[in-house]
Parts: sequence; C-alpha cells; structure tokens
Amino acid sequence: MFGETDMSTFEKRLTAAAGADAVRRQEPMHLHTSFRIGGPADWFVEAVSPEQVREVTALCRQEGVPLTVIGNGTNLLVSDRGIRGAVLRIGAGLAQVSVKGREITAGAGVLLSRLARAAQEAGLSGLAFAGGIPGSLGGGVCMNAGAYGGELVQVLTGVTWLLPDGTLETVPADRLELGYRTSVCQKNGAVVLEAQMELSPGDPSEIAAQMDDLSRRRREKQPLEYPSAGSAFKRPAGHFAGQLIEEAGLKGFAVGGAAVSEKHAGFVINTGGATARDVRDLLEAVADRVEKRSGIRLEPEIRMIGEW
Ligand SMILES: Cc1cc2nc3c(=O)[nH]c(=O)nc-3n(C[C@H](O)[C@H](O)[C@H](O)COP(=O)(O)OP(=O)(O)OC[C@H]3O[C@@H](n4cnc5c(N)ncnc54)[C@H](O)[C@@H]3O)c2cc1C
Repeated sequence: MFGETDMSTFEKRLTAAAGADAVRRQEPMHLHTSFRIGGPADWFVEAVSPEQVREVTALCRQEGVPLTVIGNGTNLLVSDRGIRGAVLRIGAGLAQVSVKGREITAGAGVLLSRLARAAQEAGLSGLAFAGGIPGSLGGGVCMNAGAYGGELVQVLTGVTWLLPDGTLETVPADRLELGYRTSVCQKNGAVVLEAQMELSPGDPSEIAAQMDDLSRRRREKQPLEYPSAGSAFKRPAGHFAGQLIEEAGLKGFAVGGAAVSEKHAGFVINTGGATARDVRDLLEAVADRVEKRSGIRLEPEIRMIGEW
C-alpha cells in the first residue's frame, strides 16, 4: 500500500496541501510525547490552520493513507515501531482564545493551562481544575479531561469538528457522549477544531488562589520530575487505581526503563530509556497482579497508538 511511488506522490500532494515547512518525514514521536517514547511517524504535519487540517484530512482520505491526530501528546504511548501513515498535530496553529461575557471559544490546540489562565484573568470560574493538566483543549475534549472534582463536561457547550467524511459541523456538547475520560471522539474519528464553553462569573484573585493550591497539590503528590503520561489507569468505580497498586506492593515495580512511581503509584514513569514495550508490559503486569489480589481489572487511561 505504501510503495515508493505512492509515497512520493502522496508526499508531493501533502507538501502542497500543508506547506513544505509543516511536513516532516520519519519524525521521531518521542519528541512529541510527554513519555519521551515512540518510534517514527511516516509523515508528521504540524497543523497551522483549520483550512489546512481540512486539506490534509481530505488528502489522506482520498489516498487511503491512515491519519492519526494528536494534541500535546500527554496521554499517549506511541509504539517503538512508530506510526504508519500521517500524524497531524493540533497545536499552536489553532490556539486562539476569545472571551465574550461568560462564553469562551477556543481553538483545539490551545493548552489547557493557558485556557484556564485566560478564564481566570477574565474573572470566569469553572476551569481552575484544568490549570495543571498538560494537554491541549482538543485532547481534553477527546478524553473529557478532569481533576479535583472538575471535568470539561461541566463547562463545554459545544464543539466544531471535522468528521472523517469531510463534514465540518458545530455540535452541542450533548452529542459528545462525554463520560469518565471518554467521549465519542474516541470512536467516530472526529477532529476537534474548536470548542465553546460557558463559565460562571468569579473573582480573579480567588480563582488564582485556587489554581495555585491545585498546582501545589500536584507538585507534592505527582512525579512531575519524570516523563509520564499522567495517571496510567482509569479510576475503577469505588476505588483509586493508585491505592490498589500500592496495596499490591507494586510501588517501584519496573520493567526495563518503565516503573511504577514511588511517589504516586497511579503513575508509570520513564526512568530513562524506557521503550513502549517496557511500558506496555509493565501496565499488563500491574493489571494482572492487582486483579489477582483484589479481583479488580484496571483499565489503562493512556492511549496506545501506532504499530505494535
Ligand atoms: C503529568 C501529567 C498530569 C496529568 N494530569 C491529568 C489530569 O489531572 N487529568 C486528566 O484528565 N488528564 C491528565 N493528564 C493526561 C493528559 O494531559 C490529558 O488526557 C489531556 O487531555 C490530553 O491532551 P493532549 O492534547 O496531550 O492529547 P494527546 O495525548 O495528544 O491525545 C489524547 C487523545 O486525544 C486525541 N486528540 C488529541 N487532539 C485531538 C483533537 N483536536 N481532535 C480529536 N481528537 C484529539 C488523540 O487522538 C488521543 O486519542 C496528565 C498527563 C501528565 C503527563
């Protein structure tokens, strides 16, 4: 399917659609993931505008080239063999934020930390929880990111997305099937371009104090000094993954360069030179041992992508 002739034809068209500066060949994905792990993507495109996203997605559809969309790469485990086809990164090129009254409209590439700060400065309450989440808004919608009792579902009113068949539409939030770390975007292949949110009026200095408190709690509890993808497992109903892992005696348990954090057992960290296989084997071993001890099967929150 990806013979040399096809590749060069596709590459020429991709360069024409995306711009020569935006396209890279054999791009190491460890440069684009917070785990600092991942083999090469055949093609890597840094999105510069919604129009360019439309053109690149249309081209991949026409040419039958698989397309993987990523945001800030903070919830991803990319395989060591990398990603076949094209990777489209939605980042700074789609990062505008506009505030009107209680409503915020923002591009999918804006970092949640920047969005939370913009809301705080505008005296809008409801996004303080997102200040320490290192992902983008688009990744946040896809994951229904949340922390400390807040979740994007609480503030989202709608999104503008591009469906795999090329349809561009703005849909209300109730079409997103937002649940615990899940949304319909994980199933329907939609690329989120923009999101609309409604917040409540709040006092900027109180919101700032709340954000400072939450970041202090993160620094105290989480192994932020190591590469990771945040919580490795989803929270099972009625339990905490970290606690179950700790009770199974797995703090510090390692496979190759991947280890269960000593500081927070819910995090798997890259202690140096971890491969994707190390992380995957570790996740499986942890899930097996926790299940044996507690009867509860942990489900990874980290999204595994690429050619395994
Ligand atoms: C130190 C640390 C702490 C963290 N703390 C939290 C936390 O408190 N709460 C929490 O919920 N998460 C947390 N995370 C995980 C992560 O930051 C979130 O899941 C975040 O929402 C992922 O956003 P991203 O832009 O990095 O997405 P990526 O990791 O790049 O992608 C995640 C998923 O979203 C999809 N996606 C990305 N952009 C788009 C788009 N524009 N349109 C459609 N799909 C898209 C990807 O295909 C993929 O399936 C943490 C991670 C780290 C490293």
